[in-house]
Amino acid sequence: PDQTAVITGASSGVGLWAAKALADRGWHIVMACRDLAKAHAAAAATGIAADRHSVLHLDLADLDSVEAFVTALRKLGRPLDALVLNAAVYMPRLEAPMRSAQGYELAVATNYLGHFLLANRLLPDLHATVGRGTGRLVTLGTVTANSEEFGGKIPIPAPADLGELAGFESGFKPPVAMIDGKPFKPGKAYKDSKLALMMMSRELHGRFHAATGIVFCTLYPGCVAETPLFRHAPPAFQRIFPWFQKNITKGYVSQPLSGDRVAQVVADPGFTRSGVHWSWGNRQKPGAQPFAQPLSAKAENARRSARLWDLSAGLVGLP
Ligand code: NDP
Repeated sequence: PDQTAVITGASSGVGLWAAKALADRGWHIVMACRDLAKAHAAAAATGIAADRHSVLHLDLADLDSVEAFVTALRKLGRPLDALVLNAAVYMPRLEAPMRSAQGYELAVATNYLGHFLLANRLLPDLHATVGRGTGRLVTLGTVTANSEEFGGKIPIPAPADLGELAGFESGFKPPVAMIDGKPFKPGKAYKDSKLALMMMSRELHGRFHAATGIVFCTLYPGCVAETPLFRHAPPAFQRIFPWFQKNITKGYVSQPLSGDRVAQVVADPGFTRSGVHWSWGNRQKPGAQPFAQPLSAKAENARRSARLWDLSAGLVGLP
């Protein structure tokens, strides 16, 4: 097969191992990364075959870079069978918000707004591969953004909550730093960005699935406690977290297994349902089977999802 997947943030962690798993299934991977040298080195170190991957520059924290990426991707001339929205930053110890090129709070800008623009721009390209039996848009969600599940109820620093979107309503520029317009909480900004992504995926499904056939879904691969996502967490947390997840919560998943789960959702025939959130459960058991996990009322709130869509379109310059 000559299927092609774009994976954002494929230079590390889940995205890198998803690239490896898909390359091993015969796919070509476009690694969409902000650090080209790091991406090339990571691909080599992970053993991703040279003819199974390309590296293209993408900085999700700059909307101009997203536009440039779309142009460069089309120049490659490959079909777009799958788009995996994976890249993210998690900076729980920031005291003041950092800002994207456009002046938006950095976690929401990178994890959500950059992906919102990218997904919208690439819908026609995904639509074009539906006839090949592909055309999937897969988004990394997380348990901490889903208050239906135990992991989403942990109030440290606060559960994901977009409120009435007051921060987006007022333009999301300084001094505003949170989607709900409330004071900056860096760990919550990450959870909010993931909840917004899960709402976006539902909204994409509602707006475009019937007309295009594109499959839109999110997944929670398990707690991949050893990825560099946690590099800004306190050192003691980084030491204890994998042990805690292995022995207490039993949520621990290795990086190769997390990558294989993403690859399954991208490529396998059992994942053609659109509008669902895939999970293997929070307590990892050998041979666990994927299932469609219900989302929280917050992620299912249709009125707020529609308003979030309109405000996000305005922030990234879409009509
Ligand atoms: P990593 O930190 O290992 O990987 C994050 C990737 O995103 C890196 O490739 C990073 O690039 C990239 N990235 C960060 N900022 C930008 C940017 N501005 N533009 C382009 N790329 C960028 O984290 P994980 O692999 O753990 O996380 C991947 C996804 O999985 C995230 O969406 C996360 O929410 C999700 N997830 C993770 C879980 C976990 O337990 N780890 C659990 C559930 C979901 P660089 O290498 O240059 O830093």
